[in-house]
Amino acid sequence: MSNNDWTLDKAEETYRVKNWSDGYFGINANGNLTVLPTSKKKSEIEIVKVVEEMKSQGVKLPAVIRFHDILRSQVKKINRTFRNTIDEAEYEGRYLGVYPVKVNQMREVVEEIIDAGSSYDYGLEAGSKSELLAALVYNENPNSLTILNGYKDEDYLRLALLGRKLDRKIIIVIEKFSELKNILRLSEEMNVTPLIGLRGKMSVPGKGRWANSSGDKAKFGLTTAEILNAVKLMEEHDLKSSIKLFHYHIGSQISDIRTFKDAINEGGRIYAKLYQMGCKLEYFDAGGGLGIDYDGSKSSNDSSRNYNLSDYAEDLVYGLKQICDIESVPHPNIVTESGRAITAHHSCVITNVIDKIDRYQSSFNTKKSTGEHIMVENMRDLETEACKISKENFQTIFNEAVQLKSECLNAFKLGVIGLDERAKMETIHWRIMEKIMKWADVSESFVPEEFKSLNEDIAPQYLCNFSVFQSAADHWAIDQILPLVPITRLNEEPTVQCGIADITCDSDGKIDRFIGPEGHNKTVPLHEIKEGDEGKYIVGLFLTGAYQDVMGDNHNLFGRLNEVHVFSDADDPQGFYIEEIIKGNSSSQVLTTMQYNPEYMAQSLKKLINKEVVRGKIAPRIGVKLVDFYEDCLADYTYLNW
Ligand SMILES: *Cc1c(COP(=O)(O)O)cnc(C)c1O
Repeated sequence: MSNNDWTLDKAEETYRVKNWSDGYFGINANGNLTVLPTSKKKSEIEIVKVVEEMKSQGVKLPAVIRFHDILRSQVKKINRTFRNTIDEAEYEGRYLGVYPVKVNQMREVVEEIIDAGSSYDYGLEAGSKSELLAALVYNENPNSLTILNGYKDEDYLRLALLGRKLDRKIIIVIEKFSELKNILRLSEEMNVTPLIGLRGKMSVPGKGRWANSSGDKAKFGLTTAEILNAVKLMEEHDLKSSIKLFHYHIGSQISDIRTFKDAINEGGRIYAKLYQMGCKLEYFDAGGGLGIDYDGSKSSNDSSRNYNLSDYAEDLVYGLKQICDIESVPHPNIVTESGRAITAHHSCVITNVIDKIDRYQSSFNTKKSTGEHIMVENMRDLETEACKISKENFQTIFNEAVQLKSECLNAFKLGVIGLDERAKMETIHWRIMEKIMKWADVSESFVPEEFKSLNEDIAPQYLCNFSVFQSAADHWAIDQILPLVPITRLNEEPTVQCGIADITCDSDGKIDRFIGPEGHNKTVPLHEIKEGDEGKYIVGLFLTGAYQDVMGDNHNLFGRLNEVHVFSDADDPQGFYIEEIIKGNSSSQVLTTMQYNPEYMAQSLKKLINKEVVRGKIAPRIGVKLVDFYEDCLADYTYLNW
């Protein structure tokens, strides 16, 4: 395809921005990737402009950009959707959602969500003592819920009861029967009435990657027998009226809406039966699981979902209403603990491509030389044949090329051919493979499967200045697809099919699953980078706001990224401003977390240099410079200075 045939529609088809971005990102007429932080056209900003602004303020790549308007917009969207559905269904309960802190614990994220949700009484969910410590202070709204999940020791429970003394609606969800006894004892000791939730162990098998969050093997939740015993125990302590909520959580990123329907049916019945037994429950908490269409395929594969927010809300509201009406129990308030869906879109990782790793060196001289082994000439002959490739001979050429390459390796190991001959044969081999691949790409005739993987074998890798382990943990751990899109040149055809390698020394430090025309691809089409333009070609990794932002680790001592918080502003000439810059980790900081003492290290190095200065090996002036340089590196960013 020549460049002239390339259109913005083709770019959209390639990167599926419309499908995965939920209206928050787009491609504009200049061929630049844009963000629409309020999902309205008038808020549209070119991402490259944000990157330029960052540069002018001294923020180096790689960097995380947070669009706080997206966060706010998502909080409003989920609340409005549930409100509208509730009105339309004439459902008698309210929607009282909570944000699960573990999905992105950053204070700024939690604050923004609480602020945006205040008029909806949107609350928080905590799953550990530390998260509860934060929730106690950051959710001050007496009308919103704070829901406590996870295993709880006495201090966790005391903190929860302290919250009750402050008149917060803190609901302790019983994950394990033994927790109940502790609650009964401590609430008596502290003289407060607890609010209790019961987490059911659901029988619906979760689907996808978090299948074990429900079903008999689930680590959390009470069996039906335990639920009944819990009610009995509470009754014996005159605290039956403290049981306020029924909860389940069947896993994250639920890709098939049928899984939700099953859970609602089962959970709804449990709620109704408990109510009929005299537990006047007020809340029905359907947990998390609301998925994101990471690959834009709108399907039930693991990186996607076959429903949208409205479908989800409708299933929950109408489903519950129907069960409650049949069972003649009141409609409970509906709680969801959606985290991924609230935060995924709001942040992205921006990085630059700093080099290309090719399978072979096209500039290597493969011309015949005297005394050369006949094998090399055979490979050369095969290349001549490959120039006339057709559906009659492609298979033979492929087989022979593979055969010759393996013979070449054996011959080298036996000392029959030398380095130069091996290098020539390998270079010619890859050139032949490239010819076959190009032919297979355009060929109308049937091409066997094995040729499809040729593309991946021969594809170069673009080396990006970031660490998969820090910025895309789920890609490494569970093959999660995250959209990767160049932020400029989308009006040009991307002619290089490539993989992405990161700068860690780990061979797992790569991205090799991308959005593809039919499902997923091992390579992504990116643009040719001219010599000298290394470091200037910038790509974004999107939908990193949920889990990825906070789960990363310091593999190879690459630390947290520089971060900017962007707000859209109609009055600003650029349409946005950077509200805050949070510097990423310095080498010193990451070393300190591993028990090194950078001050001691600097002093030690200085001593070593001084010793050489005294011995006359290093000039004093140079010695001082080297010490300064070492100290500067300690204080500097952990990523490549490009
Ligand atoms: C992790 C978790 C959530 C968040 O799930 P998402 O799929 O991100 O919405 C909600 N509730 C509980 C109990 C969780 O453990």
